[in-house]
Amino acid sequence: MSSAPPPLVSLRALTKRYGATLAVDGASLAVAPGEIVGLLGQNGAGKTTLLECLLGLRAADSGEITLAGLDLRSQPREALRVVGAQLQPSALQDKITPREALRFHAALYGVAADVAALLARFGLVEKADARFDTLSTGQRQRLALALALVHRPTLLVLDEPTTGLDPQTRRALHQILRDHRTAGGGVLLSTHDLDEAERLCDRVAILHRGRIVADAAPAALLIRASAGTRLRCRTAQPQSFPDFQSSADGLAHAAVAQEAARAIAALTRAVQEAGNTLVELQLSPPTLEDAFVALTGDAWDDKPEAAP
Ligand code: ATP
Repeated sequence: MSSAPPPLVSLRALTKRYGATLAVDGASLAVAPGEIVGLLGQNGAGKTTLLECLLGLRAADSGEITLAGLDLRSQPREALRVVGAQLQPSALQDKITPREALRFHAALYGVAADVAALLARFGLVEKADARFDTLSTGQRQRLALALALVHRPTLLVLDEPTTGLDPQTRRALHQILRDHRTAGGGVLLSTHDLDEAERLCDRVAILHRGRIVADAAPAALLIRASAGTRLRCRTAQPQSFPDFQSSADGLAHAAVAQEAARAIAALTRAVQEAGNTLVELQLSPPTLEDAFVALTGDAWDDKPEAAP
């Protein structure tokens, strides 16, 4: 009987403190082969710290980390060979060129890389021999991802890979990640872009004050956070409706948790009964942002320092 392959990432009860700050607080998370998992969280939620622990760049205080079934603590070399990583900030030596950097990384891993193909795939042919310090933000990001893929890792760990990218480059990068998934690889990426998470990720884990407060498919998260569909209408004469917020210009809006049809029927009936006219009616589905806000609170709440 063949057993299922181990998860590419398995984090169990990971904890990391910086002095009195509890940056990661018992976080557990898994990434399976063929899965793109998004890590979301407000500034300071602990995303970078979690990723750095996962990559062996920071020692966790407690918890277990395995990569493709290999224990990071007892087999760090073997475990880390599975991973290609891109962390912030992506800085390289000023004078190195993309071509040299790719060759250097391939040599470091002892692999034969098709540098020309990588340069082409990441749209860096024209800049292949330009110094790193002359590259734009987007070109640096693309090079960083190309470097992460040089040794053909199964797992990609990316810290905000699309920040600062133009829409075309972002789309191209999404396609590269989807291709990686199709080939059976896994991706764990942190992002602040909820739209990106919704479109790209199979699962989204929300980190809040160092804890994973949700871990589910984006669609399931929307339901779990009971983020309601929004109904918005405009009437010829201002009118108020129960549970709706109305304004003097005839606009009224409300969140309807379920049964949008019933809410619309009640609304249109009320408009008719008042002898008013409905000018505009709009139904908007909940967004991942609604769910995120519901799960983490919308304020930039100051994180209280945890007791040591
Ligand atoms: P952002 O979205 O802003 O990048 P993040 O979710 O990646 O945030 P981290 O950078 O992991 O969050 O920070 C988590 C907490 O740990 C924060 O309170 C931060 O101030 C603290 N922290 C991070 N790095 C250090 C460090 N080297 N020394 C002390 N505290 C740190």
